[in-house]
Amino acid sequence: MQSRVKIHDLEVVYEIIPREVKYWRLEIKDGKLRLIAPQGFKNHEKIIERHRKWIYRKFKEDEISRNRAKEKKLDFNRGENDFKQLIQELVREFSIELDVGVNRIYFRRMKSRWGSCSSKGNITINRYLMYLPENLIEYLVFHEMAHLLELNHSKKFWDVIYSKFPDYKEIEKELSIYWFAVKETFSDEIN
Ligand SMILES: [Zn+2]
Repeated sequence: MQSRVKIHDLEVVYEIIPREVKYWRLEIKDGKLRLIAPQGFKNHEKIIERHRKWIYRKFKEDEISRNRAKEKKLDFNRGENDFKQLIQELVREFSIELDVGVNRIYFRRMKSRWGSCSSKGNITINRYLMYLPENLIEYLVFHEMAHLLELNHSKKFWDVIYSKFPDYKEIEKELSIYWFAVKETFSDEIN
């Protein structure tokens, strides 16, 4: 079910997605707002109304990232093997630093995230990361491995990140800018 809401200068289209969840949540995907909510949820309008500020800010941030993505150049000099080797070296280094063990490393072309970490100690790295500057690759690997200590984005998790990357907020922003650059370059694969 799709609806529309006007927030200042924005015309926001949102979709209500019923799912087997306990609590509702809002997310933005491909420039669309999604409200994921339990079956039979009826407070859609109230939720949207109450989060107008957040929605507006998120949409504006997305717009800025999309524009800044045009200035970014992807790095096509790094081969797939070099990339995998780099990841393995980083995993080795951070295993010692964080005192954690990684079970397996998977490489996948993912459409919505740079990486993930499972409670079984496996980390998955998005293959598109290979076109990004090394400092961002380093950050992403560290971020995923820090999830072996703290699975969620808790305060404790960000403290671990901060200890190595005090400018992590900037880096996270860079990653979202590069995401738009990757999407633009590989539009036939990703969309
Ligand atoms: Zn994370």
